[in-house]
Amino acid sequence: MQTDASPFAIAASAPIPELVTPGHVLTVMLAIGFVGALVLACGIFRAFREVNRKRKALDEANRQLLHASRHDSLTGLVERGHFRERFEELLSEVHGGSRPGIALMLIDLDFFKKINDAHGHRAGDAVLVDVARRFREVVGPANIVGRLGGDEFAVIVADAADDAAAKKLADRLIARVKMPFVVNAEELCIGASIGIVIAAAGAPGASALTSNADLALYEAKRRGRGTSVVYRPEMRAAIEERELLEGDLSLALQHGQLGLCYQPIVGAGDEAIVCREALVRWHHPVRGLLYPDLFIPLAESRQIIQQIGAWVLREACTEAARWDDTICLSLNISTVQLLDPAFLKSVVEALASSGLPADRLMLEFDETIFAGIDDSLFALLQSLHVLGVKLVLDHFGRGSSSLSYLERLNLSAVKIHREFVQAASAGSPRSAAIVDAIVSLARSLDLTVTAEGVETAQHADAMRAAGCTHLQGYHFGRPEAIGGAADPRVQVAQRARR
Ligand code: C2E
Ligand code: MG
Repeated sequence: MQTDASPFAIAASAPIPELVTPGHVLTVMLAIGFVGALVLACGIFRAFREVNRKRKALDEANRQLLHASRHDSLTGLVERGHFRERFEELLSEVHGGSRPGIALMLIDLDFFKKINDAHGHRAGDAVLVDVARRFREVVGPANIVGRLGGDEFAVIVADAADDAAAKKLADRLIARVKMPFVVNAEELCIGASIGIVIAAAGAPGASALTSNADLALYEAKRRGRGTSVVYRPEMRAAIEERELLEGDLSLALQHGQLGLCYQPIVGAGDEAIVCREALVRWHHPVRGLLYPDLFIPLAESRQIIQQIGAWVLREACTEAARWDDTICLSLNISTVQLLDPAFLKSVVEALASSGLPADRLMLEFDETIFAGIDDSLFALLQSLHVLGVKLVLDHFGRGSSSLSYLERLNLSAVKIHREFVQAASAGSPRSAAIVDAIVSLARSLDLTVTAEGVETAQHADAMRAAGCTHLQGYHFGRPEAIGGAADPRVQVAQRARR
């Protein structure tokens, strides 16, 4: 029997092997599901990452916005509103007992306006940025520095229980600001005045404390700027009193209440009078005789020193023109007067109308001018020098003279403050060293040196021996009005000594 045994037949009759089993289908479906899930997960992950990135960018933008709203765009310091918030936060910790005490300092830059006026706002901005940097460096990261606007700054000392430490820090800030700023290769000088209030347990609220710091700042400026003052409760009454006096002072000139005294300055060798210093007095109708230490700072802060100064110039030059022509006239000029653009004209007019030769006029100013010195002030001093007027640095050694300026000022003389004269004569080695240093510096710059406050023969001998060329003080003559009316304060001082 023939059998069909072709391979095909065999194959056809053989059981068909299962190429796609349900297992395969399941595997494929699982694989597809897995890939789908993977793609989905990736999508979700990517979307999640994108959302996260956007959220972070948004957070960052918010953070930057918040930072910008809380910080001054020029200096990067905390701005007024946020400064106040931080102050209130820290103050509430003081009130709650978790912080022993904080200090608030209000800072005003002295003579900053001059930089803006003379060198433009760009130079002013550059100085402000540098001031901010210096303040930050001095106070350190634990404390807060703010810019309250313009040239007003403030500091919160986060841990300050006593006045002394806060004042020390304030004085360091002032010293840093006094160092010259270099803008466009030019050295610019300013200063700072600081009012301080300490908030410890039982302190009043933020507004009262700020107002107290403001009073202390006012007091610092009144004391001649470049200084710091810690608030004391009695300041408020004193300031109210001063405001009354300021009102009276603005009328004093037109009511003829101002007068002049003259005090001799003698040569150290022969003790002959070479000069007389004019010293202004105010005969107040109710308070009696008032002295310049009290009212000149008021006149400066009220900007009436210009009128008073011009009157002193005219009056004293007219008087001095009648003296022996070997005797000079010395006048005190405050820094505010020197900064007045009309000052040079008032000197020229006083000399012209009185007939006093310019080389018999000496103008005394003190070291506070260094804080506001710039090209226009140098030019003014140069013009006075060319005119023949002699320039004298008063109270030398008491402030913080930048010695580099001395040479450029065309000075004729320096006067040593009586504090050093009297202490050196009494044997203080420190004061004696200061007197010696001033005398040798003056010699090298070819200046004469007047010792102020020479009250006894012993003072005179000590200052003569130290090399002073001129002497001034009660020992040689008291300030006297023309006609011989002695200065009552000197009489009181002499009575007390007897
Ligand atoms: P100053 O320029 O140092 O004037 C000398 C001051 O020392 C005067 O006080 C004088 O009376 C006092 N004095 C003089 N000899 C002695 C002494 O032997 N012992 C003591 N203890 N004191 C002595 P005064 O007149 O009260 O003047 C105080 C300051 O007021 C002056 O200091 C001067 O800086 C300023 N001043 C006076 N008159 C004027 C003025 O017309 N314009 C301006 N801007 N300031 C003036
Ligand atoms: Mg003087």
